[in-house]
Amino acid sequence: NIITVGSMNMDFVYYVRSHPLPGETVHSVRTETKSGGKGANQAVAAKLSGANVTMVGALGKDPYSEDVLAGLRGYGVDTSSIVLKKGTIGTAFITVDESGQNSIVLNGGANALLTVQDLECLPSLFEPSSVVLLQNEIPWDCTQYVIETAYRRGVSVCLNPAPALTIPPHLLPLIDIMVLNETEAAWVTGVKVEHDESAVRQAASSLIRSGVKEVILTLGAKGSFYMNEREEVIHTPAFKVNVEDTTAAGDTFIGSFLAARQKGLRTESCLRWASAASAIAVSRAGAQSSIPDAEEVAAFLKS
Ligand code: ADP
Repeated sequence: NIITVGSMNMDFVYYVRSHPLPGETVHSVRTETKSGGKGANQAVAAKLSGANVTMVGALGKDPYSEDVLAGLRGYGVDTSSIVLKKGTIGTAFITVDESGQNSIVLNGGANALLTVQDLECLPSLFEPSSVVLLQNEIPWDCTQYVIETAYRRGVSVCLNPAPALTIPPHLLPLIDIMVLNETEAAWVTGVKVEHDESAVRQAASSLIRSGVKEVILTLGAKGSFYMNEREEVIHTPAFKVNVEDTTAAGDTFIGSFLAARQKGLRTESCLRWASAASAIAVSRAGAQSSIPDAEEVAAFLKS
């Protein structure tokens, strides 16, 4: 099973012609309100790609929290370890421009209130083949507790350090898979990875040499770059699609990659699967609602 310990949000999405500059007001073309949060998005992506998924995290006691909980249950995600906090769900204010680029302001809400005590159920969820999937949208002490607990119990850890934070070096050898986009990779490694193949390799290699076992850098329309402990590399191109909305591209990639891994596919195939799933997701509007299921990904790969 895949245990996602992370954020759940309600997203308020405003589609605009271009993002407002500081001091500028722009009109939206249309708006939508929908479930999001990197934790929940990745959980849904993994579930839709066929994995058993448990969501661990915090919601509030407001109607949006009830909607998000019902949504996750509807996908078949195990929600029995989610805790309910006083106050409201985390929210995200997202603008998406005509080219599909997004910019996001987060309010942690219940996600920010998650505590280590709320995570004491974690070891009871572990199975020998479990993978714990983490992002950076819950308090850092929770993330650190999960990494250390999983490591002690021999459970794999996949970390998507988003939004980017500096990761204490002693934790890096406890991480099995780290998945970063270009911005996160630049922040975490100090290497500017944009536009330069050798910089991408250098960033991945610096994480591998610090003890991370497998690194995936997602490079948007340029695809992804994978490196393992022996510094073997796999380049996976992105599929060419008409971009509608890139929200949750990375989340779809990560969840579907891990689900493919759980099925025992070879790494190349897992990366291709993730590339297809995320290409489908960017070709339509929405975050969670744009994530394809296994049947659709399989059909896309055959076409
Ligand atoms: P994030 O959403 O975290 O910024 P990326 O932009 O790197 O992540 O996208 C994650 C993955 O989604 C990429 O590695 C690629 O496989 C796929 N993807 C992203 N943008 C596109 C695109 N324009 N066309 C096709 N696939 C894309």
